[in-house]
Amino acid sequence: SNARAAARSTTDRQVQLEDHTLQARGDNGPHIPEGIEACIGNTPLFKIKSLSEATGCEILAKAEFLNGAGGSPKDRVALSMIQLAEEEGLLTPHAGDVVYEGTVGSTGISLATLCRARGYLAHICMPNDQATEKSDLLLKLGAEVERLRPAPIVDQNQFVNKARARAEEHTADSSRPGRGFFADQFENGANWRAHFTGTGPEIYRQTGGRVDAFVAGAGTGGTISGVALYLKPRLPDMKVVLADPQGSGLFNRVKYGVMFDPKEREGTRRRHQVDTIVEGIGINRVTQNFEAGRDLVDDAVRVNDEQAKAMARWLVEKDGIFVGSSSSVNCVAAVRTALELGPGHRVVTILCDSGARHLSKFWAKAGSIGGKANTKLEDVLNV
Ligand code: PMP
Repeated sequence: SNARAAARSTTDRQVQLEDHTLQARGDNGPHIPEGIEACIGNTPLFKIKSLSEATGCEILAKAEFLNGAGGSPKDRVALSMIQLAEEEGLLTPHAGDVVYEGTVGSTGISLATLCRARGYLAHICMPNDQATEKSDLLLKLGAEVERLRPAPIVDQNQFVNKARARAEEHTADSSRPGRGFFADQFENGANWRAHFTGTGPEIYRQTGGRVDAFVAGAGTGGTISGVALYLKPRLPDMKVVLADPQGSGLFNRVKYGVMFDPKEREGTRRRHQVDTIVEGIGINRVTQNFEAGRDLVDDAVRVNDEQAKAMARWLVEKDGIFVGSSSSVNCVAAVRTALELGPGHRVVTILCDSGARHLSKFWAKAGSIGGKANTKLEDVLNV
């Protein structure tokens, strides 16, 4: 019929046009990723429209929650650590080797996923005060999970120390098949190098090399160090800003060169624990991954829990973006940085993971947006 002929000629023309556009973009036809590991990296960078409008700057978000394996930037890190261990002959697939790690969750989920993909087992030690979604997910992935009472780093029951000890026990036990490998995300240089070779170059390419500030929190420090080490030599005028939750010592490390506020009275709080609802960022000790890029961090912004919760609600209300607590802290610090730089600047930050991983803890406290519509930026910043 005429209608069908017209439709066919319209679609034919459209296909021609789209092929042309794809070629112009350098897209050379179909590309099927080889397994879930090949879906790690190359995450989108998009503009957060509401925050850009409210600040007069461009606030851009690297959507790391879209990483293909475990849904966080830790996919890059887990793959990098496993690949290095394989190259060094410390891990052999399908030989009974077990990867041990101390993590608050994201790294464990990425490791557990990749261990399945590559023929290892994962044994995860984590504090027992984190959102239960994460340990539930780890168990579904078939990882062994040890949830431990929060303890200072000098305590042998602290989760990182426990993971290291478990790996050593395994290797020493001749009755067990395979070896134990301690991944050690806090001190392992394969962590920051994953961001130096992945996240950093991607941001550079996606922005055409125009970035006025990069803002990120630090849990191990791998992200902020790796991205800063890549971008700073290329963009010497770009500011690197640490987004630090309340109770974390890194703010003072950047501002004053010490971990703890010298004005603070000794013994006023338990210093080994970062006293915040935020998970994944903020730390009260110096890690090799943070130190790798520390000289390149220009400034730090402290974000309290109320601001983090208000920003999380804002992002849902205005943009339909549902993220976890560390992403929310990053966005508060990105807005503060934008307001300091003034209109017309471009600020890049990271959205680390989905709010779905934080329903039972952070989002249970953050509430919903019901009855709280029409938030203003001051409502987020001045709480
Ligand atoms: N967000 C979340 C949810 C995390 O789990 C982590 C890592 N612990 C980070 C942010 C911080 O990343 P990094 O370890 O690279 O500093």
